[in-house]
Amino acid sequence: MNNSSELVCTFVTKKKINYKKIINFFSKIQNTNDYKILSNRALDLYCDDISKKNKERLRNFCFKNKIDICIQFVKWRKKKIFLADMDATMIKDETLDNLVKFAGIKVDIDKLSKLAMDGKISLRDTLKFRVSYLKDKRTKLIRKVVNKIRFNEGSRVLLKTLNKNGYHTSLVTGGFQPISTYVGKFLRFKKVISNRFVIKNNKFTGEYIPITGRQNSKLSYLNEICKKKKLNKSKNAISVGDGANDLGMLENSGLGIGYYPHSIVKKAVQNHIQFTDLKTILFYLGFTEKEFSK
Ligand SMILES: [Mg+2]
Repeated sequence: MNNSSELVCTFVTKKKINYKKIINFFSKIQNTNDYKILSNRALDLYCDDISKKNKERLRNFCFKNKIDICIQFVKWRKKKIFLADMDATMIKDETLDNLVKFAGIKVDIDKLSKLAMDGKISLRDTLKFRVSYLKDKRTKLIRKVVNKIRFNEGSRVLLKTLNKNGYHTSLVTGGFQPISTYVGKFLRFKKVISNRFVIKNNKFTGEYIPITGRQNSKLSYLNEICKKKKLNKSKNAISVGDGANDLGMLENSGLGIGYYPHSIVKKAVQNHIQFTDLKTILFYLGFTEKEFSK
């Protein structure tokens, strides 16, 4: 492997990768120095530089062929801090919306949530609104939501591998305790940052204590943890998320990945996972499949 290369492009597919097709296309637009096979569905190609126009051609080719691609600097590829969003990233669900639905409240909660994740309305306003619906409902509904949580594919292997390799892992969510703490514990995140319901006599009061509901609060946490660990966020941090409230964190991490992202994230961030699962993050970080902790 040629470590003097500036850039590494990682290609990941859901099923067996067609190395030849990718290398053929790549060599038409760019001289490549070397390659490394990470798995039968992941490949690294090394090169010195790619023009903006050729990057676009490459990304279009990948999109058409359902290949996830990440382009990054070789020397900053290894990271030390991992931050992940919870709802619609580590798990399939939007847990607050499910809570409101299970409480039998008839509002178009999905629409409200989608508008917030697209950045069209403030997350803080919609959180306040959504939590207020829960006033006087029994907190045992939380158990029902927890029982129905569906983890996204690759989440366990991702966390197990990162933890084993010394990454500091944080779940940073606009969701709520104790749902977030359950997810965090199950996946073995070292830290969970989330909002908290105000509860009285086993009932929701309709109020909450915001920890991450503020704008850019995920970015504040990124700053805080990097300062504490004496690390540089633009070199040592990697983060993943899908919605507008993840943007500050994603844009300020060395590598910010949009996971099946809403359009606002898709436009603002370059590297995504759109066709494969969460294990792709490990390939982006340079792990081979043999190095995954299963
Ligand atoms: Mg989310």
